[in-house]
Amino acid sequence: MVHSFPNSSPPFVVLLMISFPICCSSSWPWTSGTLPSGDLPIRLRTDLDAVTAASNDYGNLVHEPPSAVLYPSSVQEIVDLIKLSNNCSTPFTVAARGRGHSVRGQAMAGGGVVVEMAALSRNGGGIRVSWSPSLGYYADVGGEEMWADVLRVGLEHGLAPVSWTDYLYLTVGGTLSNAGISGQSFLHGPQISNVLELDVITGQGDFLTCSKDNNSELFFAVLGGLGQFGIITRARIVLQKAPTRAKWMRLIYNDFTMFTRDQEHLISTNINGPNYVEGSLITDQSPPNNWRSSFYSPSDQANILSLLLAKQGLLYSIEVVKYYDNTNIDTIDQEVELLVKDLNFIPAFVFKKDVSFVDFLTRVGRGGEKEEETQTGSWKWKHIHG
Ligand SMILES: Cc1cc2nc3c(=O)[nH]c(=O)nc-3n(C[C@H](O)[C@H](O)[C@H](O)COP(=O)(O)OP(=O)(O)OC[C@H]3O[C@@H](n4cnc5c(N)ncnc54)[C@H](O)[C@@H]3O)c2cc1C
Repeated sequence: MVHSFPNSSPPFVVLLMISFPICCSSSWPWTSGTLPSGDLPIRLRTDLDAVTAASNDYGNLVHEPPSAVLYPSSVQEIVDLIKLSNNCSTPFTVAARGRGHSVRGQAMAGGGVVVEMAALSRNGGGIRVSWSPSLGYYADVGGEEMWADVLRVGLEHGLAPVSWTDYLYLTVGGTLSNAGISGQSFLHGPQISNVLELDVITGQGDFLTCSKDNNSELFFAVLGGLGQFGIITRARIVLQKAPTRAKWMRLIYNDFTMFTRDQEHLISTNINGPNYVEGSLITDQSPPNNWRSSFYSPSDQANILSLLLAKQGLLYSIEVVKYYDNTNIDTIDQEVELLVKDLNFIPAFVFKKDVSFVDFLTRVGRGGEKEEETQTGSWKWKHIHG
């Protein structure tokens, strides 16, 4: 959908914003007293709380107050908003807001309308797991749902998506508008490569279903489209049988060439290769345990910090994971040994954990951040407050 994108946006985004106008009634900007009557405006809010929340995000760098915020109770209300705006004369922007985990105002709409996707109520039907002979297992998921909830519901069926983000309190619509990357992307592609179908509300207010074979231009524009081509209200996401456990390792290097060579080697291992690979730097500013995860015991952390001091304050870390379940529980240790046996990390600086699949996927944000519940959920998660 059209949104006020930050200065770093390519020029075409700004042009789109202008040539793709959504307008409103002559009483624009609405104030609490001048909201048009009818079904739509009941969830439009112009009060300070609503406007302030919609003019901030995780980055806390850009603040662009909208004139109003829509808290939709149905997809139809978003359609109505966009149709209404198309019938008016003064252009204004509309932006879908997932959980506002953008860092430079991408989900803001200065002077326009922000659609708070979290308000969509589906009466518990926001995530539905199905199977078909042609597609296999998949989940139909509301664009407002968080990946943490997709994980929870999938696991109730022994299933899970194949491609993730590191942090799961992001919305499906939000990450599919970007790419959605994590350590599984080398194997399955980013999250946008694992979508079978979308429901999208276009800038004209048309509600369209699209896939690679049906309205394909819209499908490929919206996936990774930075919120510029429509509002995703449903995504059909590929599911596979979920593993139950993970062998989770961190390997430390002080030689950049060895570090990158080993990463390339790991992601090219076709037979019995890893399920997840990510690399990172360890510096004074980015210590071994940080907001992303507290992996190391205090003594391991002390050893790494001594090494960091000895190596001019810069080390490299490969994080590698192999999933397993009852089918390969007897061979997994051997598989892991084979995987790392020819790698060139600093001897003795290999650290291993054996955790549940869920504990691995929910590793980010377990460091004392604000605790919140999932939208639907009985599970409690640590949530990084954005
Ligand atoms: C702590 C943290 C960890 C992160 N980890 C990862 C990671 O591991 N991998 C990764 O890829 N990214 C990661 N991100 C970035 C994240 O994917 C994006 O920043 C994105 O903003 C998702 O957040 P959100 O769901 O809150 O969406 P928002 O920030 O609210 O929106 C993001 C963009 O999507 C648009 N949008 C939102 N909902 C919809 C919708 N339904 N339809 C169409 N457009 C929509 C918005 O207008 C905006 O342009 C992380 C961000 C944070 C803050």
